[in-house]
Amino acid sequence: NSEFNSASGGNNNKGTGRVPVGIGRKRMRIVVTGGAGFVGSHLVDKLIARGDDVIVIDNFFTGRRENVMHHFGNPRFELIRHDVVEPILLEVDQIYHLACPASPVHYKYNPIKTIKTNVMGTLNLLGLAKRIGARFLLTSTSEVYGDPLEHPQKETYWGHVNPIGVRSCYDEGKRTAETLTMDYHRGAGVEVRIARIFNTYGPRMCLDDGRVVSNFVAQAIRKQPLTVYGDGKQTRSFQYVSDLVNGLVALMESEHVGPFNLGNPGEFTMLELAEVVKETIDPSATIEYKPNTADDPHKRKPDITKAKELLNWEPKVSLREGLPLMVSDFRNRILNEDEGKGN
Ligand code: NAD
Ligand code: UDP
Ligand code: UDP
Repeated sequence: NSEFNSASGGNNNKGTGRVPVGIGRKRMRIVVTGGAGFVGSHLVDKLIARGDDVIVIDNFFTGRRENVMHHFGNPRFELIRHDVVEPILLEVDQIYHLACPASPVHYKYNPIKTIKTNVMGTLNLLGLAKRIGARFLLTSTSEVYGDPLEHPQKETYWGHVNPIGVRSCYDEGKRTAETLTMDYHRGAGVEVRIARIFNTYGPRMCLDDGRVVSNFVAQAIRKQPLTVYGDGKQTRSFQYVSDLVNGLVALMESEHVGPFNLGNPGEFTMLELAEVVKETIDPSATIEYKPNTADDPHKRKPDITKAKELLNWEPKVSLREGLPLMVSDFRNRILNEDEGKGN
């Protein structure tokens, strides 16, 4: 299988020389930066479940110990509180580099910190990968396409990005992270992988991170109006988190550098999304229009032909199937919050 080919073929086992487990695949030691966050914690679950050793590095800016607490006490799991802007010494086989706030509200909160995380953080993890011969995967973003003039977006599109706007710390930060990744690949021979992730949702998203899916779901549960920004005709394509995690692992284990779009091509306007949330949670929910934010991309939809052909990957969970899967997690956390307030 592909995992066997990769584990035996690449230079990704230099670091630890781990003993074989199972049939045909070596047990690896894998670091996940940002592993206490939304996507990272689901990735950690998958890596632990398949038998690998996982080290999470996180500064808990948007991540939470609760997301990985179920692994505490497992000798194959380690959690390190560390900021990736500072160098770190570790011995691992693979590096999944996710550390970076992803929601616009969070990444605009301290834009200088966001760009430092993207540039210095990525540099440090690439320096680590170079020193120990580990394979490095960057979680880039569909935001590298900016407010796209090409639709749907293919990996060959260079994008339409404002370099001096309020989203630039994130968009340009990730573009620079991609540049660094390719330069370490070409210049220092580091084995790298680049994923361009499109809007992803699921359990463990921060309740109040301001992203549209988490906002609508939390608002519908709290019996508040769904806040639609602008005219609500802008589009996004929403991917369920398990599809993304499968894509990230398929990419890491493949022999392809990328970049690869990882997203669900199902495209929805924000008004259509609001309808699906209403159908799923509360048909009586109302809509409240609010002004849109600056530089908001008008439309976004991945062309995933490349990932289908080369990684044999495509998303399986539609929006109507995926939304209900995050509702019970949101309900429980909102209930706990209310109880915490003594309500
Ligand atoms: P998230 O905010 O839940 O997770 C990010 C994690 O990184 C958090 O645990 C946070 O505490 C940690 N972190 C942030 N800055 C750090 C630093 N300087 N040092 C150490 N840890 C730090 O976001 P997410 O949705 O899980 O996103 C994970 C990655 O995927 C990010 O790199 C993001 O840019 C990328 N991505 C996500 C989406 C999406 O829709 N979720 C879309 C495109 C790209
Ligand atoms: N780095 C790190 N851990 C390592 C190796 C390097 O954090 O195991 C950091 C290092 O401190 C530097 C960055 O990664 O800031 C880039 O390292 P590289 O060796 O490529 O560059 P140099 O140190 O020569 O500038
Ligand atoms: N949005 C919205 N209501 C909200 C939050 C966001 O209508 O409560 C819109 C936002 O203006 C954008 C889209 O939803 O057009 C997606 O926003 P999000 O912050 O989720 O992700 P982005 O794709 O912009 O990074």
